[in-house]
Amino acid sequence: MNITSHNLPFTPNRIFCIGKNYDEHIKELGDKQIPNEPVVFMKPVCNIVAPGVTLNHPPYGNELQHEVEVVLLIGKEGKNIHESEVLSYISGITLGLDLTLRDVQRKLKAAGLPWERSKSFEQSAPLGVFKSYHPEKFDLANLNFSCFVNGHLRQTGNTGQMIFPISNLIQIISSWWTLKPGDIIFTGTPAGVATIQSGDKIVVESPVIGSFFWQLSSE
Ligand code: ZN
Repeated sequence: MNITSHNLPFTPNRIFCIGKNYDEHIKELGDKQIPNEPVVFMKPVCNIVAPGVTLNHPPYGNELQHEVEVVLLIGKEGKNIHESEVLSYISGITLGLDLTLRDVQRKLKAAGLPWERSKSFEQSAPLGVFKSYHPEKFDLANLNFSCFVNGHLRQTGNTGQMIFPISNLIQIISSWWTLKPGDIIFTGTPAGVATIQSGDKIVVESPVIGSFFWQLSSE
């Protein structure tokens, strides 16, 4: 399924993903160090999967894991954005899954190699529908969100637990790249990531954002 099936009201430009942005998730990965600056990697926009579209397991790797994340859409160009101005650059908010092949990532990390095969495989970026962002409607520093697999709660988080809060994140990213309309930012996952199996149904939800699901093909 391609991006046009998503009916995106904008042309996606890039997908930035933030790694290691929640303490408890860093601990569950067995990492000891809290980063002193954001960990950033990217996924190609062709990996976006619309809600409800069936996911296929990548042809390699054994531990395909869900990572529910709050996802932001940038609406205007900005460089060196001041923290107090950040909110005016956000045009949309939703939830997404930063799908990860954990066993492949572990091997690549141990060998000091790039992450792409573990994070940027086809269909690695299931993405909900963006809601228009209004600062008075969404408190980015206190947003609850969760992930259920086959009806069982697996992950629950609140954006208040972020190591680099959203305003800080966007300020820093905009000092490294000029942000453009259509840039998408996955802001990191809380603890509870786990391996999904064929046929599993993954639901992500947040009271103010909504609920989206994907199912892993049973083949
Ligand atoms: Zn992630």
